[in-house]
Amino acid sequence: MPAELIDGNAIARSIREEITAEVATLVARGIKPGLAVVLVGEDPASEVYVRNKGRACHEAGMHSVTINMPATTSQDELLAQVKQLNEDKAIHGILVQMPLPKHLDADIVIRSILPEKDVDGFHPVNVGKNLIGDRDGFVPCTPAGVQEMLARSGTVTKGKECVIVGRSNIVGKPMMALMVQQGSNANATVTVCHSATRDLKEHTLRAEILIVAAGKPGMVTGDMVKEGAVVIDVGINRIADPTAKNGYRLVGDVDFEGGRARASKITPVPGGVGPMTIAMLLKNTVRAAEQSAAR
Ligand code: NAD
Repeated sequence: MPAELIDGNAIARSIREEITAEVATLVARGIKPGLAVVLVGEDPASEVYVRNKGRACHEAGMHSVTINMPATTSQDELLAQVKQLNEDKAIHGILVQMPLPKHLDADIVIRSILPEKDVDGFHPVNVGKNLIGDRDGFVPCTPAGVQEMLARSGTVTKGKECVIVGRSNIVGKPMMALMVQQGSNANATVTVCHSATRDLKEHTLRAEILIVAAGKPGMVTGDMVKEGAVVIDVGINRIADPTAKNGYRLVGDVDFEGGRARASKITPVPGGVGPMTIAMLLKNTVRAAEQSAAR
């Protein structure tokens, strides 16, 4: 029987409804969660992401600020902008959209955001908190979204073999830290595979939970998936498709039909992990606002 679909759109929608209710409660207490997104340059994909984040904030009743800076912005100008947002009491979350133009140092910029406003979860303080299982930090939105999808699809993780393909700081490594913790929706035995892994298939075939974030279209084929596995495909890849109106379509890192024939549950691309990322960003921002009110 083909795998059940884990519907990221539906899960993200219900999280956003919950967030809207939480925001209304906070607003009634005089706290309006605020997110600032800084976009440097004119990358068309980044412009779409930033627009979607602003729209999602407004829909949830949150305060949203988008700061567009020219591609020629200097490091000092960007740091001064972050400093201003760090000091702005109406802003609880700050996100600097990546990638930055090449002349800017992303590591320095990320470190300049106050950890308590770093709702992207990339500041080393939040990275460390995630690793030690300290839940008052912020977890990067995509892996946090994957964990939420596992929970809301009723996937038991405790004691399971979880194989993650990819070791990026944005997805693979924080995903590993989340899944290995003691506690609910985690407590798995985790293997992380990467570009130097010798026999990828040997590992993926052991996976009861397979999370793929490699950025390689269709890299994980059906024969690499264990019967009955839960497969989470984080990959979002554009491939040429002359039959599509815009000449391309989006596919994941897993060969969807092949994976679906073997898995028990699988996320589609698009409509899987993608919509979860913004939902978790809103969730992090609401928590940042709550934590700032409690300080
Ligand atoms: P990345 O390029 O930073 O990392 C890719 C990782 O895959 C690397 O760690 C590399 O070691 C590993 N890898 C590459 N080839 C491999 C192979 N043959 N075998 C095993 N491992 C291999 O990418 P990223 O930023 O982690 O993103 C991964 C994918 O997830 C991309 O398609 C990206 O678009 C997508 N993504 C989606 C979301 C979302 O919102 N759904 C968010 C972030 C990233």
